[in-house]
Amino acid sequence: MKVIDLTPRGYCHGVLSALAMVKKVIKTPSYPRPIYVLGQIVHNKKITEAFREFGVISLDQKGKTRLDMIESVESGTVIFTAHGISDQVISRAKEKGLTYLNATCRDVIKVHKAVKEKLDEGYKVIYIGHRNHPEPEAILAISKDIYFVEDEKDALLLPSSLSKENIFVTNQTTLSLYDIQAVLKIIETKYPNYLFDNEICNATTVRQDAVKLQEKVDLMLVIGDEMSSNSNKLADVGLKSQGIPSYRIGGVEEIDLSWLTDIQSVSVTSGASTPTAVTEEVISFLKQYNENDPNTWDHQTKLTYEDIL
Ligand code: SF4
Repeated sequence: MKVIDLTPRGYCHGVLSALAMVKKVIKTPSYPRPIYVLGQIVHNKKITEAFREFGVISLDQKGKTRLDMIESVESGTVIFTAHGISDQVISRAKEKGLTYLNATCRDVIKVHKAVKEKLDEGYKVIYIGHRNHPEPEAILAISKDIYFVEDEKDALLLPSSLSKENIFVTNQTTLSLYDIQAVLKIIETKYPNYLFDNEICNATTVRQDAVKLQEKVDLMLVIGDEMSSNSNKLADVGLKSQGIPSYRIGGVEEIDLSWLTDIQSVSVTSGASTPTAVTEEVISFLKQYNENDPNTWDHQTKLTYEDIL
């Protein structure tokens, strides 16, 4: 079986900086303990679990916002994740006298700035993103004049009264153009004079381009967490752009061996928050796999916490 390792893949600058920040706090005793992360520092459970071994508590409660979660922190150091944080949460951390660090990626900060600027200029903002994702949560906290849209259905529900307004449309950094174009088509019919600022970040774009431009293969595996928006999008792009059966898996242990039956070629990529060791373990497994030899079928992960970090 031919195994194609797509590049670029894996960690982006925003993830690298966020991980470095947590490691620095772990190594620096002067940061008050306990160490909390408000959410998952980046969307990868293996990383969250590895940090837990070093005493880092990730507060990630389903249905709770960052503002809800900060209330449960009474002391210590709080790290805000790469996905961005609202001014309200920062103020609350200050009021509570917490030590805090902000790992928000500079590409996410750029979107916050663009949205704030346009609101100041009197625009109404339409923001395309994923529901229940921390990046939109922080953006939507900026103002009530931001309309959230996830899909075409939401776009159709946008109020017709907005047609009298100046409209600015922008998006979450980790979407694909496939998602955005479908929504924009509807926005265009409702508010023809809208202004659009594509904020898919460069790291997301170049990883998606590598998937679009790859040679045709029988199967593509995307290594990334189920919560990782950009990983899910890579699988989506593989299917939509080239019709390649594409699966997102958290690691080697999630490979379904039936996918490999009669496969001649497989490509591998990974999301921006996937540890390199996790992707390399998948590639090593695929390279030695022989569907006729059961000795090559063991796909339990052997990685330790140290390998992950
Ligand atoms: S995927 Fe893009 S926006 Fe998200 S952390 Fe990486 S560089 Fe920043």
